[in-house]
Order: sequence, then C-alpha cells, then structure tokens
Amino acid sequence: MKKEILYSGKAKTIYKTDKQKELIADFRDSLTAFDGKKKNEVKRKGYFNAQISKKIFEMLEESGIKTHFIKMVSDTEMLVDAVEIIKIEVIPRNIAAGSITKKYPIKPGTQFQEPVIVMDFKSDEYADPMINEDIAVAMNLATREEIDQLKNMALKINKILVDYLGTKNLLLPDFKLEFGRVDGNIVVADEISCDTCRLWDKETGDSLDKDLFRFDKGDLSKAYEEVARRIVPEIF
Ligand code: UDP
Repeated sequence: MKKEILYSGKAKTIYKTDKQKELIADFRDSLTAFDGKKKNEVKRKGYFNAQISKKIFEMLEESGIKTHFIKMVSDTEMLVDAVEIIKIEVIPRNIAAGSITKKYPIKPGTQFQEPVIVMDFKSDEYADPMINEDIAVAMNLATREEIDQLKNMALKINKILVDYLGTKNLLLPDFKLEFGRVDGNIVVADEISCDTCRLWDKETGDSLDKDLFRFDKGDLSKAYEEVARRIVPEIF
C-alpha cells in the first residue's frame, strides 16, 4: 500500500509503503539535464523507462546479481527494497562519449579495448565530480572492499548488458549505476533506462537516449519507444 512521499527526485518519486523495508518508485514523465538546469515533460517517458528498467533488473537477477527490484505495482511504479544509497555513481564506458571526451584528449567514438570504470561523487551540490577510490574512502562513502565489489559488479553488469543489447541491435557506449546497502548486501538500485544509458543504434549510430534531449537532437519520445519495442516488445 502506497503512503506518503519520502523523496521526489528529478525523474522519480519515491513513496513509503506500509512495510518499512519496501518503497515504491514512480517513474515520472519529467526529464532534466545539466544538473537540473534544462527541464521538460515527455509523454510516456516514465512508462517506457519503468518497463525497460524492470526487464533489465529481472535479467540481472537471473544472472545472480542482486537488485532492489521486487515487482511492478502499476505500469510506472516499481516496488523496491528500501536501501541505503551509496553516494558513488559507477559508470562503465565502452565507447568514448560525453564528459570523458571533454575532460581528456579522447576522441568521441573511440572504442575502448577494455571497459573503463569511472566513479563520480553523487552530489547535486558539487555537480557530481569524478572521484577515485582514495577520495571515496577518505569521504567515508564506502570501504575499499565495497568499492572493489562495486567495480566487479559494474564490470559483470556491463558484460551482460553489452551482450544482451547487441542482440537488439543496440550499442552501449556508457551507462550509470547506483548501488545501495540492504541486509549486509550491496544491490543495484535506482534505474537502468534510456535516461541513464547511452544507447546507439548499431546500424545508423543514432542516439536513442537522453542525449536527444540534452542536445536537442531529435524526438525523444519516439526513440524511447523504439528502445522499448526492442527490449520489451511484450508491452506493445
Ligand atoms: N549519467 C547519468 N546520471 C548522471 C550522470 C551521468 O545517468 O548524473 C549517465 C549518462 O546518461 C551517460 C553516462 O552516465 O550514459 C556517462 O555520463 P557522462 O559522465 O558522460 O556525463 P554527461 O556527458 O552525460 O554529462
């Protein structure tokens, strides 16, 4: 049973439930970029992202990777474990795009020989700066053992997703993972969707993700629907 709002983020609203250890994440149609400076509403965005996330969480669980996902309670609402979020965004990168091509002399589109794992401090106040293990430990964001585990989990998830999305004619240049602690375990939290992944069509190289909104490159609603058609055809 859904109760009061615990927290309203940029794209999801988190509700308490009658169970202390369970929350409901409602995927909204709102969209932000550049630390919330750019905003919009896109019809059915929440629905597509919720369904894509659900499918990916289920796939990860089948591969033995724990996530916060419990079940869907409506088209856009997911029942999840209440976790303590680790304030580190873990970003596996396979093809250079976005911030890494601006901070370093790495040409956009460069295929990395092996995945590059980047960690950002999850903080709106500090605009998510890139950190390393020592900084994360110094700030008490996580222990060294936990950071090792985050990196290992991120690499495993990356491999599963690259292989899976490849069969759907999609490239995965990079994506962002969040993790939480629950009952002594580390689980994947937040969402894995078109808002948090770069996804390129394998044939055309076209973006089918939030970059369309960031850079006004095209119809976001159509692109998210296209990804949903490939990943969750059963909803159509
Ligand atoms: N990303 C995200 N949330 C963030 C920052 C990044 O979901 O707060 C995702 C983003 O969609 C991309 C990847 O993480 O798939 C890498 O993003 P990057 O560091 O290149 O930042 P950007 O170029 O998006 O500003």
